[in-house]
Amino acid sequence: MLSVRGLTKTYGGTAVVRGLDLDVRHGECFGLLGPNGAGKTTTLRLLLGLIEPDAGSIELAGLPVPQRAREARGKVGVVPQLDNLDPDFTVRENLIAYGRYFGLSKAAIVARVPALLDFAGLASKADAPIAQLSGGMKRRLTLARALVNDPDILFLDEPTTGLDPQARHLIWQGLRRLINAGKTIVLTTHFMDEAERLADRLVILDHGAIVAEGAPRALIESNIEPAVVEVFGEGLPEWMDRHATSICQRFERVGETLFCYTSDADCVIDALDQARGLRYVHRPSNLEDVFLKLTGRDLRD
Ligand code: ADP
Repeated sequence: MLSVRGLTKTYGGTAVVRGLDLDVRHGECFGLLGPNGAGKTTTLRLLLGLIEPDAGSIELAGLPVPQRAREARGKVGVVPQLDNLDPDFTVRENLIAYGRYFGLSKAAIVARVPALLDFAGLASKADAPIAQLSGGMKRRLTLARALVNDPDILFLDEPTTGLDPQARHLIWQGLRRLINAGKTIVLTTHFMDEAERLADRLVILDHGAIVAEGAPRALIESNIEPAVVEVFGEGLPEWMDRHATSICQRFERVGETLFCYTSDADCVIDALDQARGLRYVHRPSNLEDVFLKLTGRDLRD
């Protein structure tokens, strides 16, 4: 569905996308992760033919981009980072107006609207103005709107940013339904749990280049010890000096918390049980641990 070779984009002498190679197969959910400034948005814009690359080639839904980007975009659905629904229209009118951009006949769109409303869980809100929708409803409508042209591939830019847990779960449910129905999805997200849950494969970008690539579980298994004990509380520096090097394979101090990465969490917990004033959280390692190991813990802006 998507094949990218040597994709490069430079702004003001700085390469913000540096020789990217990507392949997204039909029916797969592909994650594009990276800290702020890694080049995710620029990459998405290049893939959609909204900006021109300095080098490299893109084939999207079988068409070369940017040469035939307009045609390719007809086979694509896009959920932008910020909802850009038309506030002057109702829910139903938003779907119809968007379908018209794709040159669909009004009759064809009207026929699709009930299924789209149903997918978004908004059948009872069809005639409501946008201002009456919650944040989660707006997101679901934006997602349904992206399906108006029955796209082969969907690009989702941070689809659940700003939503509460209930609303996120509803969006994930919708995305799962699309994946099960054979749609191809390219997803950018800051939420590692979202990527772990949805993506079949993903890349982690940093400074415009890929630093890791694979299935979430495989990335965790190959990059990180299986368990993490996060230790915090009174007496941490002393405990760390006495125990950390001898009982965990790798540790990292971040502010007031010590992250102990280990394949033997019991051993760490035994040592902690004897320490007064320290508390801990024991959990399996996850994609966020991989992400932070590979891209660092420094703040990006
Ligand atoms: P991300 O989406 O991963 O946060 P972006 O693709 O938005 O990253 O940005 C990557 C880098 O490119 C950043 O350093 C950003 O400042 C720079 N950049 C993005 N768009 C432009 C532009 N139009 N002009 C100049 N620099 C840009």
